Amino acid sequence: MLIESVEELLDIASRVPVQRVELDALVGAGIELLVRRDDLVDPELAGNKFYKLFFNVCDAREQGFSLLLSFGGAYSNHLHALAAAGRRYRFKTLGVVRGERPAQLSPTLRDAEAWGMKLVFIGREEYRHKNEQELIAGLRAQYGDFYLIPEGGANLAGARGMQLLGQSLERQLKGDYTAVCIACGTGTSLAGLAAGVELAKPAIGFSVLKGEGSLGDTVAATYRQLQISGGTATSASVTNWRLIAGFHAGGYGKRHPEYLSQFWRDFERVTAIPLDPIYTVKMLWGIVSLAKQGYWPRGSRIVAIHSGGLQGRRGFVCP
Ligand SMILES: *Cc1c(COP(=O)(O)O)cnc(C)c1O
Repeated sequence: MLIESVEELLDIASRVPVQRVELDALVGAGIELLVRRDDLVDPELAGNKFYKLFFNVCDAREQGFSLLLSFGGAYSNHLHALAAAGRRYRFKTLGVVRGERPAQLSPTLRDAEAWGMKLVFIGREEYRHKNEQELIAGLRAQYGDFYLIPEGGANLAGARGMQLLGQSLERQLKGDYTAVCIACGTGTSLAGLAAGVELAKPAIGFSVLKGEGSLGDTVAATYRQLQISGGTATSASVTNWRLIAGFHAGGYGKRHPEYLSQFWRDFERVTAIPLDPIYTVKMLWGIVSLAKQGYWPRGSRIVAIHSGGLQGRRGFVCP
């Protein structure tokens, strides 16, 4: 579906299914867990990338670009969504992929190519310079001018899109929840979500990275920018986002330890909600583990955002 306005996007977002899940550990801790199924918001452009790309596409169109360029790995949810958005909104897309072109493309990249994305492979060493002017200038010289979206859609436009998700959640539940959780890679989504919900509602991010170093700084800076641009900037110390770092289970894209595989199998069997291996499984494992530790006050009503990523399951050896 083509979305033409913020109001239309809010309307769609406010109708995303919210599913209550019952697990023994949650019942025992006296808390209620609602999974907001943003993995179902759109068949091709699923999860948080649906929101993160919205204002990027708007901005690119307003600025008169016909080519969108971004970066990612062979299983990137972001490149997959970008290719889908490009096809739908009539942009050419170019995906700069980390590593050599393999003999056989991943299912992610096969889709992307089928949707018209041009794939350019660069070595891992060169990929590390993806944010540097020289590499970008070289790409411009070769492919013409483009609207640049950072890896993962990690820019202010991306965060603004996620802010709409937060606003839609308020509309949908009319404030009847106590906290909202999301998995964090770059932290852009957490910053946007936190800025979109009421200040009294904590937005809790579960980092999937091992040495997240500057993640908190990124969230803080992005959140602050949203407050300033929205005219709601108050004292710098008033924030409603939190970051929890203990549930990365070895780090980004690492092979799952057995306890996580076990949790994944059990969760899917009991709830019939499919999870992705990189992000959502770790967030839910974190939420449930914290419930067992008594972290959530009894009577809590927690919303977990299902940020999608299911296309990436195809590249993962499921337990
Ligand atoms: C990209 C992605 C995230 C991480 O979003 P950030 O804004 O980078 O923190 C979380 N979940 C899924 C499924 C994703 O694809």
